[in-house]
Amino acid sequence: MIDLKNLVPVIGLEIHVEVNTASKMFCQCRANYFGSEPNINVCPVCLGYPGALPVPNIKAIEKTIRLALGFNCRVRRSFKFDRKHYFYPDLPKGYQISQYDTPIGENGFLEVDFESKEKVVYKKFRIRRVHLEEDTGKLLHEGGQTLIDYNRSGVPLIEIVTEPDFHEVEEVVRFVEEVQRLVRWLDISDADMEKGSMRLEPNVSLGEKLLSGEIKLLDYKVELKNINSFRFARKAVEYEIERQRKIFEKGEVPKQETRGYDETRGITFSQRKKEAEQDYRYFPEPDIPRVELKEEFVEKIKRELPVLPIKERRELIEKYSLRLSDALVLTREKRLLDFYKQLLKELENEKIEKLPQRLANAIVNKKVKIEDWDTEKFKERFLQLFGKVEEDLVLVEKVAREVISSFPKAVQDFKKGKENALMFLVGQAMRQIRGKAKPNTVKGKILEMLRS
Ligand SMILES: [Zn+2]
Repeated sequence: MIDLKNLVPVIGLEIHVEVNTASKMFCQCRANYFGSEPNINVCPVCLGYPGALPVPNIKAIEKTIRLALGFNCRVRRSFKFDRKHYFYPDLPKGYQISQYDTPIGENGFLEVDFESKEKVVYKKFRIRRVHLEEDTGKLLHEGGQTLIDYNRSGVPLIEIVTEPDFHEVEEVVRFVEEVQRLVRWLDISDADMEKGSMRLEPNVSLGEKLLSGEIKLLDYKVELKNINSFRFARKAVEYEIERQRKIFEKGEVPKQETRGYDETRGITFSQRKKEAEQDYRYFPEPDIPRVELKEEFVEKIKRELPVLPIKERRELIEKYSLRLSDALVLTREKRLLDFYKQLLKELENEKIEKLPQRLANAIVNKKVKIEDWDTEKFKERFLQLFGKVEEDLVLVEKVAREVISSFPKAVQDFKKGKENALMFLVGQAMRQIRGKAKPNTVKGKILEMLRS
């Protein structure tokens, strides 16, 4: 008997990312199908004509390796493609070319940072595999009929599979957000969930937390589909956890199945029994020879790999004491971070107090508009906003000193207790400053000097 109090969510993720190569995975057709008239970017290969031969896209392989390295995976130097069989109208060949037992990357992890009790904590989530396959066509349901568009058929698609390491919805959301960030950072995809260039399929089940702290899996899992935004990801997973919990409360165990998410009703619904692996009848794709990578090819990708966003954030937090939330915004895009770093360097000598945080604030809160990412314009506005304050203080000090040495009689009068003498000195100073500082600031400075 399971104690319901000990049930904890166990979530693994499958994430598909469309690769932004110019051509498709196995033919020369244009890969970017957005905005194209239906069935324009097609040829015998991606329409699945008998006898048409696939040729792997080396750019897509290169990008998959780059992502696998970004995920700290072991990269295979030798791999093959396999046929995965299933029938659906959007799959013209009757099988999808994918990778079965030789994924390009495996045994990696992605580290994610969280805010917890005013501290930044780091958590690693394991990546089981990263492999390359082709996308299917797209079914459009319009006016009671179903239409097929094959422009998407054969577009390179990377599948990322994690271990079931997630126990909270928040972890899932933060992880997926980090995957999206990394994929964009490495120029692999625009990873837009609304457009479908990034798709998330969480596997959700409840496990039993044992006294030892270990979590015992309960031999079922539910795969969730049709999630096309971060908001829906959160809602679908939350709904599914509650649904399964209620089934356990009745003394039953949830069924292994695939469920869709209905965003208007905010519920998940049963789609089909989940296929077992043997249903796909995987076998090696006979039309594509095994791929053997030269060591130099992988080494070059490794060398050119940029510093990853998590590492950049760690530096922003540790070196400049930035808040995690600001570091997250600054590492949303590589060029935004470059922009920040360049400005930081150029403003170094301006003697602005807490410059790194102030500059981050200005960018994050858009206090200074980032017009066409022009660093000169930005710098000018930033200095007007923050730099000038410091500049003017220097000016006030200089003028106050001059006035005090030019009017020794007034100084003596003040020291004898004549308040008017002070006002005279302030008036003299204000004349020189010409409205660049407030009378109170000037008065304060002169008083400070007279008393010291
Ligand atoms: Zn084609």
